[in-house]
Amino acid sequence: MPNLRPSPITPTVDFDAEGVQHGFLRLPYSRDDSAWGSVMIPICVIRNGEGPTALLTGGNHGDEYEGPLALYDLARTLDPKDVSGTVIIVPAMNYPAFRAGTRTSPIDKGNMNRSFPGRPDGTVTEKIADYFQRHLLPRADIVLDFHSGGKTLDFLPFCAAHVLPDKEQERKAFAAVAAFSAPYSMRMIEIDTVGMYDTAAEEMGKVFVTTELGGGGTSRAETVRIARRGTLNVLRHAGIVSGAVETQPTRWLDMPSGDCFSFAEDDGMIETVVDLGESVEKGTVVARIHPVGRTGGAPQEIRAKMAGVLTARHFPGLVKAGDCAAVLALVEG
Ligand SMILES: [Zn+2]
Repeated sequence: MPNLRPSPITPTVDFDAEGVQHGFLRLPYSRDDSAWGSVMIPICVIRNGEGPTALLTGGNHGDEYEGPLALYDLARTLDPKDVSGTVIIVPAMNYPAFRAGTRTSPIDKGNMNRSFPGRPDGTVTEKIADYFQRHLLPRADIVLDFHSGGKTLDFLPFCAAHVLPDKEQERKAFAAVAAFSAPYSMRMIEIDTVGMYDTAAEEMGKVFVTTELGGGGTSRAETVRIARRGTLNVLRHAGIVSGAVETQPTRWLDMPSGDCFSFAEDDGMIETVVDLGESVEKGTVVARIHPVGRTGGAPQEIRAKMAGVLTARHFPGLVKAGDCAAVLALVEG
């Protein structure tokens, strides 16, 4: 571990104080419109005595809304009398991105989920990541990080964990996924794990669960209900909030290999031929990319590389070469 300088972030909350605190992670950010200004990242700490600590985050990507909707709500309503231990809530982790309504930060184009472990002397996004890496993750026993598809993808609503080398850690993560009780539960693989918050938490041995709950740069009534119920369920499962887990039926999905992902190879207009949740055979056309520069061109067909259920799709009507067009997953059992 290199000898890193201290984080420039100052919390206005005391993580060891009892009761409810609403405050900020204050990060100095000197700029044209605010010479000695700061980025003020909202944080809530709810503590009642000894017990485990949950770290709940939304807005890791700034254009995904189920997490922030569930977590601002939880921060406002969770009664410390119902808590045993500590709940740390950061509803909008990449706060500059969240305020801009964009996936990455408008300040430095930082993608929070590719910025870990961060740097105390780096960009604004790297400084936030570094604070999570060295100050918040070490406090947590269980970490729940909300995602959805943002402006460019739409997902079946699922809670997920990763297959891990430590099988006991993996078992605990999937038990928390089951407790979340989303309509779908996923054994997830990642395209690109370097710099992910997930990887940082898992390498520290934390129980880490994540979600993909919808997308398109907005939320739906159903996906917000899933997020709110799932958050309380994970806290109940961890023994931090009193009451029984409200289980709902879930379908387990598995992403066994990179064959899950299909990418556009041309620019054009996407026609989704299969809807989310529909089953396909290997070789089925799941989408067509229509050339738009002139008439008469044949569409590029995107075929399923494996049998499965359509789990995610490109959201806007226009695509570029390299965009993720479709994601399939296997239904277990
Ligand atoms: Zn995301």
